[in-house]
Amino acid sequence: MSARILVVDDVPANVKLLEARLSAEYFDVLTASNGTEALQICARAECDIILLDVMMPDIDGFEVCRRLKSNPATHFIPVVIVTALDSPADRVRGLEAGADDFLTKPVSDVVLIARVRSLTRLKMMTDELRMRALTSLEIGVQAPERSAVADTGKGGRVLLVDDRPSSYERLAPVLSTEHTVDVEANPADALFHAADGNYDLLIVSLGLDNFDGLRLCSQVRSLERTRQVPILAIADADNNARLLRGLEIGVNDYLLRPVDKNELLARARTQIRKRRYTDHLRDNVQNSIEMAITDALTGLHNRRYMESHLGTLAEQAAARGKPLALMMLDIDFFKSINDNYGHDAGDDVLREFAVRLRKSIRGIDLACRYGGEEFVIVMPETDLHVAGLVAERLRRSIAGETFAINKGTKRIEVTISIGLSTLELKGEAVADVLKRADTALYRAKHDGRNRVVATAA
Ligand code: GH3
Ligand code: MG
Ligand code: MG
Repeated sequence: MSARILVVDDVPANVKLLEARLSAEYFDVLTASNGTEALQICARAECDIILLDVMMPDIDGFEVCRRLKSNPATHFIPVVIVTALDSPADRVRGLEAGADDFLTKPVSDVVLIARVRSLTRLKMMTDELRMRALTSLEIGVQAPERSAVADTGKGGRVLLVDDRPSSYERLAPVLSTEHTVDVEANPADALFHAADGNYDLLIVSLGLDNFDGLRLCSQVRSLERTRQVPILAIADADNNARLLRGLEIGVNDYLLRPVDKNELLARARTQIRKRRYTDHLRDNVQNSIEMAITDALTGLHNRRYMESHLGTLAEQAAARGKPLALMMLDIDFFKSINDNYGHDAGDDVLREFAVRLRKSIRGIDLACRYGGEEFVIVMPETDLHVAGLVAERLRRSIAGETFAINKGTKRIEVTISIGLSTLELKGEAVADVLKRADTALYRAKHDGRNRVVATAA
C-alpha cells in the first residue's frame, strides 16, 4: 500500500525536503508550488493526502483547505497544514478551515511519518467504504458527502477519561458548550463505559495515575463495539515517544497540555465530523447490500439472491446427505386481478401473499419472489412428503381466506398453484431441480389450478 502524497509549498527547498523524507519511506510524492495547481491536482483525484503550506502567493493554504473541504468531490482528502505559524489561534484557524492536522515547521521526521501513516490508514478505509457505497448512490440514496460538508461537528456525545479533577473540571465545561459530555474519572471502568455509551468521541488523558492510557486506547480499538469511535489523546508536552506509539495503535489525534480551549473544540469537531461521515458511508453500504438482495414490494429475497444462494444450499444438503425441497408457486389468474381491480389491487395481493407465505414456512426456509407473481421456496432438510404437507397448508391459507384490496374496501378470492421437486441425488444441478418444480407447476395449472403437484427426483 503506497499512498500518494501531494506536497504544496511555494518555496522549492521546502518541497524538496518533504519530498525526500516521504520518498525515503516509500510514499509516492506529487508536488505543487501554488494553491491553484494544488486544487487542480485534487480535483483530478490524483492524491491521497495533502501537505499544505499556509503562506503562498496566489491562494493561501487556509483558503485552499476551505475549498477542498467544502467541495463534495474532494472533502474526504485529508489535509495537513504545514506552517511556521504556531500560535493556538493559527492552529484553530487551520482546523476551522477543515484541516485534519497541523504540523509546525521545522517538521520532525518521526512526527511527519507517523501522521502521514495514520491518515493513510484512515483514507484507505474511507476509500473502500466510498467505493462500496457508490452502488447505493446509483439507486438514489442521498450522497453522504453532501451531509458531511454541511455537518458542523457539534452536538456529539463525548466521553472524557481523565482522573485529575483540576483537569476535567476545566475541560468538561468547555466541551459542554458544543456537545453532551460524560466524565469517567476511573480509568478501570472507562472501557465498559465507552462500550455502553454509543459515543462519537473518546478523549483520553495519557497522564493517568497508575493506569496506562495507551492500554485503554488499544483496548478501545480491539473491542467490536468501540472499534470505530475516534480517540483524541491529551498528553504532557514532554512525551513525544508515547504520542507516536499512540498514533501507531490507532489514536486519531492529540492535544498537548496546557490544553487550549479553542483548539480542543476544533479538534473535537473534526473527529466527530469524520466519525459521522464514515458511519453514514457504512450505513449506505449496509443499505445497498440489503437492497441488492431484497424485493422492494414484498420484502422477500429477490431472484438474484436466491440463485446465488441455492447452489450453496444444494452443496450443503449433498455433503450432509440431507434432502432439499423446492417449491415453485404462482398466483392463479393474477392478470385478471390487475385487469378487474387495477394494478394497486394486484400489489396489495402480492404483499398480503408474502405475509401469509412467511407464516407458513420456517426460519431456515428461503423464500424469494422469482418473478412478477411467481415465488420460490427452498426448504433444507425437507423431503417430498413433508414439503407436500407444507405446500398444501400454504395453498389452504391462501384459498381459505379472501384478500383485502382497495384500502380494505373490498375482498377478493385468490388461489395459487404449486409445483414441488426435491434434490436427492448427489451432484444434481440446481437448475434441473428448478426445472422439475416448474414442470410440476405447469401440470398444476393444466389440471385446473388451486392445487399442489409434485415430481419425484
Ligand atoms: P396463470 O393462472 O396462468 O398464472 O395466469 P396469470 O394471469 O396469473 O399469469 P400471467 O403470467 O398471464 O400474468 C401475470 C401478471 O402479473 C402479468 C403482469 O402484468 C402481472 N404482474 C407482474 N408483476 C406485477 C407486480 O409487481 N404488480 C402487479 N400488480 N402485477 C404484476
Ligand atoms: Mg399466475
Ligand atoms: Mg405467471
